[in-house]
Amino acid sequence: MKRKYSLKTQLSLNIAAVALLTVALISVVSNVLINRQFRDYISKRHQQRIESIISDLNQQYDPKTDAWDEGFLHAIGMRALYDGYIIKIYDIRNERLWDAEFHDMKTCSQIMEDISQRMRERSLGNDDGFTVKNYDLEWRGRTIAYVSVSYFSPYFYSDEDFRFLDSLNAILAGIGAFSLLLAITAGWILSRHMSSPIRHTAEIAKQMSGGSYSITMEEKTNILELDELMTSINQLANSLGKQENLRKQLTADVAHELRTPLANVATHIEAMLDGVWEPTPERLSGIYEEIERIGRLVSDLENLAKVESGNLKLNKTPVDLSELAEKTLRSFEAEIIKKNLTVSVEGNCQNIPSDRNRIQQVLTNLFSNAVKYTRTDGTIRVAISETGNSAILTVEDDGVGITRDDLPFIFERFYRGDKSRSRLSGGSGIGLAMVKSIVTAHGGEVDVESYPDRGSCFRVILPKPS
Ligand code: ADP
Repeated sequence: MKRKYSLKTQLSLNIAAVALLTVALISVVSNVLINRQFRDYISKRHQQRIESIISDLNQQYDPKTDAWDEGFLHAIGMRALYDGYIIKIYDIRNERLWDAEFHDMKTCSQIMEDISQRMRERSLGNDDGFTVKNYDLEWRGRTIAYVSVSYFSPYFYSDEDFRFLDSLNAILAGIGAFSLLLAITAGWILSRHMSSPIRHTAEIAKQMSGGSYSITMEEKTNILELDELMTSINQLANSLGKQENLRKQLTADVAHELRTPLANVATHIEAMLDGVWEPTPERLSGIYEEIERIGRLVSDLENLAKVESGNLKLNKTPVDLSELAEKTLRSFEAEIIKKNLTVSVEGNCQNIPSDRNRIQQVLTNLFSNAVKYTRTDGTIRVAISETGNSAILTVEDDGVGITRDDLPFIFERFYRGDKSRSRLSGGSGIGLAMVKSIVTAHGGEVDVESYPDRGSCFRVILPKPS
C-alpha cells in the first residue's frame, strides 16, 4: 500500500524541495555569470596594466643623450614583477637594459611558482600558463628597444581577487541558506494554517458519523475552498440533526396519534364487556368512527411514506387542472352546503404533465383544509393560471388563517396549528406534508400566505416541460 503523509508534511516537503531547487539554480547561475564577468574584467585589467607598463618604460628614454634612465627602468620592472609580470628590456643593439630574471632569478621563479600554484589550487588555467608577449618601444616612429612581458595568461588572480571572489560566494551561499530557511518556515506556517481546519473538519465528520450533529465549526480561514468546506459541513450537520429530530419526532407522534383513539376504543369495549354500557348502535358507531380514524391515519402514513421515500413513481399524463379541481371539489359538496360556503374555480390550464392521482391528492388536501378552516358563509376561491414555463394553482379562503408562529412549520409532518382546534376538526397534521412531497416530486414548489382571522392562500407551482 502506498505510504500516506500528512498534508503538513507533504506541503512542507514540496515547498522546501522547490525552494532548494530554486536557490541552487540561482546560486549556480549567478556564480557562473559572476565568475565569467569577473574573469573578463581581470583579463581587461591585465591588458591595461601591460599597456601602462609599456607607456611608463617608453618615458624613460632620453632622446638627447640616446640613453635610458636605468634607475626608473629598474623601479618599473620590480613593481611589475611583484604584480606578476616578468619584464625584459633590450635595446636595438640587443643589449640588455633590464631583465627581471637576470636581476633576481630567485624572486622571479618564486612569483611564477606562487601564481601557478594559486591558479592550480582553484583548478584555473594550466600548469604552463605563462606566455610571453613582445612589444617594441618607439620614439617618433623609430624602434628604440624591445620589451618582452611574461605573465600567466589569459588571466590570473591576485590574493585580493581570490578574497573578493570568496566573499562574494560566501554572500551568495548566505542568501541561499537564508531564503531556504525562509521558504521552509513559510511552507510550514502555510501548511499548518491549512491542515488545522481540514483536520478539524475530518474530526467533526467523524463525530457526525457517530451521531452527534450539534457541533458547529466556528473556525475561520482566509482560504475560500476551506471556508466553503466548513460551511458545507455545518449545513450537513444541521440538516442531519433536523432529520434525526424529525425521525424521533415521527415515531413519538405516530405512537401518540394511535394511542388516543386506541385507548378510546379499548375503554368503550371494556365498558360494554363489563356490562357497564349497553352496546347501543350509537355507541358502536362511535367506536367504528374511532377505528376509521385510525385506519385513515395509517393510510395517510402509508401514503406519506411512499411519497417521501424518494422512489415515488410518477405516472405522468397530460392533466386538465380545472377539470380535476371541479371534480375534486364535488366530494366536498355536502360540507360546502352544510357550511353555506361560496366556492369558485377560475382560469384553466390543460395538458400539464403530472400524475393525476397524486395531483388529485394535493387538491383534496388543500380543499379539505380550506373547507375545514373556513367559517360558515365563508368563501373559497380556486384560481388556475399558467406562465411560459409553469402552471400556477391557488386555493384562497377567508377562514381562520394561520398564526405567524405556526406558519413556518405547517408543511412538517404531524404539525397542527391550533392543536385543540385541529384535533376537533379531525386533522392529523399530515395533509400539507404530503402536498409538499408530491409537488416537490413533480419538480414544483408550494408556498403559503396567511393572516389570522383574514384567511389563507396556498399556491402550487408545477413546471411545464420546455
Ligand atoms: P391537518 O390535518 O391538521 O389539517 P395539515 O398538514 O393539512 O394537517 O395542516 C397543518 C396545519 O396547518 C393545520 O393543523 C392548520 O393549523 C394549518 N392549516 C392548513 N390549512 C389551513 C387553512 N386553509 N386555514 C387555516 N389553517 C390551515
